Amino acid sequence: MKKAEIKRISEKLISKPKLVWDAIDKREKKKVFDFDKEYQNFLNKAKTEREAVNVISDIALKNSFSLNPSGTYPIRMMKTFQGKSIALSISGEKPINEGINLIVSHLDSPRLDLKQNPLYEEVDLAFMKTHYYGGIKKFQWLTRPLAIHGKVIRSDGSSLDIVVGEDDSDPVFTVADILPHLAKKVQTDKKVSDAFVGEKLNLMVGSLPFGDKDTKDRFKLAILNLLNERFGLVEEDLISAELEVVPAGIARDVGWDRGLTGAYGQDDRSCVFTSLKAIIDIKNPQKTALVLFVDKEEVGSDGATGAKSRFLESVLADLMIANGKEPLYHEIHKILMNSRALSADVNGALDPDFQDLHEKRNAARLGYGICLTKFTGAGGKYGSNDANAEYVGWLRNLFNEKKIVWQTGELGKVDEGGGGTVAKFLALYGMQIIDCGPPVLSMHSPFEIAHKGDIYMTYRGYRAFLES
Ligand code: MN
Ligand code: MN
Repeated sequence: MKKAEIKRISEKLISKPKLVWDAIDKREKKKVFDFDKEYQNFLNKAKTEREAVNVISDIALKNSFSLNPSGTYPIRMMKTFQGKSIALSISGEKPINEGINLIVSHLDSPRLDLKQNPLYEEVDLAFMKTHYYGGIKKFQWLTRPLAIHGKVIRSDGSSLDIVVGEDDSDPVFTVADILPHLAKKVQTDKKVSDAFVGEKLNLMVGSLPFGDKDTKDRFKLAILNLLNERFGLVEEDLISAELEVVPAGIARDVGWDRGLTGAYGQDDRSCVFTSLKAIIDIKNPQKTALVLFVDKEEVGSDGATGAKSRFLESVLADLMIANGKEPLYHEIHKILMNSRALSADVNGALDPDFQDLHEKRNAARLGYGICLTKFTGAGGKYGSNDANAEYVGWLRNLFNEKKIVWQTGELGKVDEGGGGTVAKFLALYGMQIIDCGPPVLSMHSPFEIAHKGDIYMTYRGYRAFLES
């Protein structure tokens, strides 16, 4: 057999993932960078689930989504819930009972939450107690500038939004760590899981006293006095508050060539932004397009604003009413059973320094495009939604046809660990669903890394899906 013939057969038969940078031309490479600028801007403005809902609804309103859409087609509807979850939809040309195209991502990211009685003083310094939220490596949150974002409800019922630590003129906060010289017994000689203790993640918030040396608790009092002067707060107000401690600072280009984005919260706000852009950019979809942004994924999707809630059913009921149909329970379920969905979430990219933790043939790689993760789970696919072959087949053909650069991934080697996301909760409705999003490095850290080419292909993939 001739060499050329062997090459032809090899190209025809062997599956080979493509690097985004090899697959796109100069014009599209420029688009990748332009898109990423907007993405970084979004990340900077949406560092908590509440902020993300605000930013998304502002953008949606500017793009003629409405809380009370009128009867003109296509109906562009927006619905928010408790300030922590939001849905955007565009009615399709086909009847809604033929099913919808749904993308679900999550707005929350791992962080430190302030406790309800946070403030205390110790050795003439003021601190606030925290309780970490989601799966963090605790040591990554020490000795770095941190900001406080969140909401406080005062005794008169008025609400206050706080962001401190982001403006260049703001102070920041930090969690101190023991110097290496004294760390031997408490950290260095211990297992990492024992060396860093949640109850020691105390936020340093002050160092100047109030009153004279006879004043009781004068370092704590100094902070309370400051909070009162600046925000009109008293200590009890902190009980009715949700104050989140996140890494201070903005998203940055990473590398000499600026090909990567480094930022806090790319799990999962990379999928939030790309699915938001996708629904904004589609015009008249065949099927009803629905993009859902939920909260609480990092702590198991529980609660009124998580993926396990009935928010989706409520959105569908509103959609049916907007379409002039009676929102009967069994009709809503029929729609859901006829629907296709993407669980839009990041996957862990093949780590260059820990390649042994991945099985390379099946690991997602930075730069190889949007990643399809057929199953998640751990220890024998336990706790996984395992997407149907029929659905994977349909989706890969769609991506190929639309020239979306895509790859597949799994979360680490068999028996190495694992994880899961919202897919399994939505699969309970009977819809076809698969995890689909960009790979990231340093996931759940204060500075997660994504490839700009992957972020762009994720947007293109979501858009192609909503247009299908
Ligand atoms: Mn996630
Ligand atoms: Mn996560």
